[in-house]
Amino acid sequence: MDLASIQAAEKKFLLETYERNPVMFVSGKGVYLRDSEGNDYLDLLSGIGVSALGYGHPAIENAIAEQSKKLLHTSNLFFHEGTATLALKLTELTGMDRVFFCNSGTEAWEAALKLARAHAGVLREEGKTIGTKFLALEHSFHGRTMGSVATTHKDKYREPFAPVMPDVEFVRFNDIEDLKAKFSNDVCGICIEVLQGEGGIHPVSKEFFAAARALCDSTGALLLADEIQSGMGRTGKWTAYQHFGIQPDITTLAKPLAGGLPMGAMLCNEEAARAMKPGLHGTTFGGGPLACAVATAVIDEIENSGLLAHVTEVGNYFMGQLKGLAVKHPEIISVRGIGMMIGAEINDAELAKQVAKQMTDRRILINRTSETVLRFLPPYLIEKKHVNIAVSALDEILRQAKEATTPALAGEAAHG
Ligand SMILES: *Cc1c(COP(=O)(O)O)cnc(C)c1O
Repeated sequence: MDLASIQAAEKKFLLETYERNPVMFVSGKGVYLRDSEGNDYLDLLSGIGVSALGYGHPAIENAIAEQSKKLLHTSNLFFHEGTATLALKLTELTGMDRVFFCNSGTEAWEAALKLARAHAGVLREEGKTIGTKFLALEHSFHGRTMGSVATTHKDKYREPFAPVMPDVEFVRFNDIEDLKAKFSNDVCGICIEVLQGEGGIHPVSKEFFAAARALCDSTGALLLADEIQSGMGRTGKWTAYQHFGIQPDITTLAKPLAGGLPMGAMLCNEEAARAMKPGLHGTTFGGGPLACAVATAVIDEIENSGLLAHVTEVGNYFMGQLKGLAVKHPEIISVRGIGMMIGAEINDAELAKQVAKQMTDRRILINRTSETVLRFLPPYLIEKKHVNIAVSALDEILRQAKEATTPALAGEAAHG
């Protein structure tokens, strides 16, 4: 089927959850994707932070091929050879003690919320005064299921589904006074995306993160760090919290964990793990042989190829080049991020939309989040030459935007 027929069929048969770009990819190699008309696109989004090793990576292809010849699934009623190896790796890399495997980000976050509630229950049985409330941050994004969405800030994601999980209060981002004012013995967990992704690439301040840690320590509440987007090397360290030297009690991983296969993980320390008992939580597919084998191969590849250092080096170069643009066009753009998780804020939502579209027209994939923020989540494999391609395209688009008389870009003229 060609793109037009697929578009027509989707319009009729799919639930209308997505606004897709009119592009259909059919293959990929390295950091490039090829569309159905044979055009190659430089990918600086990696499928929203998933395809960290790009496309057609031999380590992933081999892991899939080898494991598919042995076993795909047996259920969590039996042992298989992949879980222990991966759990050992992940606990070492994150400084956590235990892992629960699942299939997506929101599932990992649900497990985190459930564990925090169950843990508070254990503390109550032991005679402590501790409630069931969660504090989450403004502009947070934790996923779409009923618990995750309850801790997600944007009203439009949450309110149509009310009542979502009760007992959540939002704290102003990086506002320590607001955090202290809202914290009490009622709170069983503080929810933090150490580097907010969907919210527009905003890092928490070290002071705020430390204050959250101290408040949790004062009552036995748990500190939950959502690293679904920022974890697994995206920021040049295995988790973003490692940049702060502050250890949460629970963390969640997903997007790049299995290099493109669906997989999530919730990790915790022994104190939190006390609350889990056989049968209390589970999943049919989570931690299956294929996902475990591929995730282990992804971690090995990141380690063996020195990719964390590469993410830091090329990520810093990328950020430096974008900051150069911000000096050239200070009235239009400002830049922030860590490693290869970078946001460029455009001063006007309509302009940001036009810029994102024009980058796609130039066959460079980025996306726009939080209305005004151009988001870059490239595969870890990008090199400086790819950064240069993207930054000069962006420079040209911004220059044309300034020259245009209206704030929005003149559609056809800017394609050149
Ligand atoms: C993407 C994301 C999620 C949700 O992950 P899904 O796999 O889409 O359910 C949760 N938290 C953060 C920080 C994310 O970026």
